Amino acid sequence: MPELPEVEVVRRGLEGHTLGAAIERVTVVDGRSVRRHLAGPVDFIQQLEGAIIADICRRGKYLWVLLARDAEAAHEGQVAPIALVIHLGMSGQVLLKEPAMATEKHQKIVLNLAGATDEAGQASDLDMRFVDQRIFGGMFLDPLVETTNHEGEPVPAASSSALNLPLIPASVAHIARDPLDPHFDLAEVRSKMLKTSTGIKKLLLDQSVVSGVGNIYADEALWRARLHYAKPAKTLSPAQTRELIAGATRVMQDALAQGGTSFDALYVNVNGESGYFSRSLNVYGLAGQPCKRCETPIKREKFMGRSSHFCPRCQRQR
Ligand SMILES: [Zn+2]
Repeated sequence: MPELPEVEVVRRGLEGHTLGAAIERVTVVDGRSVRRHLAGPVDFIQQLEGAIIADICRRGKYLWVLLARDAEAAHEGQVAPIALVIHLGMSGQVLLKEPAMATEKHQKIVLNLAGATDEAGQASDLDMRFVDQRIFGGMFLDPLVETTNHEGEPVPAASSSALNLPLIPASVAHIARDPLDPHFDLAEVRSKMLKTSTGIKKLLLDQSVVSGVGNIYADEALWRARLHYAKPAKTLSPAQTRELIAGATRVMQDALAQGGTSFDALYVNVNGESGYFSRSLNVYGLAGQPCKRCETPIKREKFMGRSSHFCPRCQRQR
C-alpha cells in the first residue's frame, strides 16, 4: 500500500508534467479499473475527453486531478464540478510515457495528453498510463463538494494544491487533513483524541482523525514521542500530542526528501515496497536490534492485525 510520501511523489511528478495538458483520448483497457465510476466506462471516457488538467491534489493517500473545460477556464481557476480521482489501491502505478513507448504489462487505463511537458521542459504529447497488477485501484469521476475547517469555514482542500480551492471530491470529504497539509488542525485532532480511551496508535491510523499516517510512520512517530502504542488516547498530555504529530510530520518529510526527487521524470512510480524509506527508520522492522536512544532491544507485537515495533524501555505502557 503506498504511503503518503509515495503518493506525494506521484502528485509532484504529475504536477510537473501534466498541468495545462489536454486529455485528448481515453482508453479503458480493463473495465474493472473504472468500476467505481458507476455510470460506466463509456460515460467515463466521454466526460474526460477534451478536458484540461487544471491541478493535481492530494489529501492523505488520496490523489485527484482537477479538470477544466478549456485552457482559458483552467488559467482562471474555473474547474469542472467533477474531479478525476486516482485510487492507487495496493499496486496501482501512474506512469508518464511517450506514446510510442511499449505498452505496460498491466496497463488498465490510458489517457493521451496533448500539451504535456517532457523531461526537457518542452511541450510534448505524453501518455498517462494507469498500471495495476492486482486491480484494487482504479479511476473514477467524482463530484466536488465544499471542504471546511472544524468551525465550518471553507478552506483550501489539500496540501500542495496550486489553485487552493475549498473543494474536494465527495469520496474524500470524510478524510481528515494530513500533517503535511498547511491547514492541518492540531486542536481538532486533540479534541477527537480526548473523547476516546482507544490506544493511540489505532487513532493515529484512523483516516478520519488524521490521514496519511500508515503503519510504518505510526511506529516511527510513537518512538520519537516515547509513547506506547496502546496508551489510551485521552491520557496524552497536550505536549505529548504535539510531539507525536511533530514526529509523524518529520518522518514523512524525511521520506519525501529522500524519495521525492529520485524518480525518473517520465516514470512516475508508486510501489508500496519502496526501499528508499527504510534507511531513515529508527524502529520499524528493527525487532531485536538496539534502540538508538537506550540500546534496549526493539520489540515487535501484533496490534490490529499488523506488527507494532517499539522500545520497551523508552515507550513503556504505563
Ligand atoms: Zn529505547
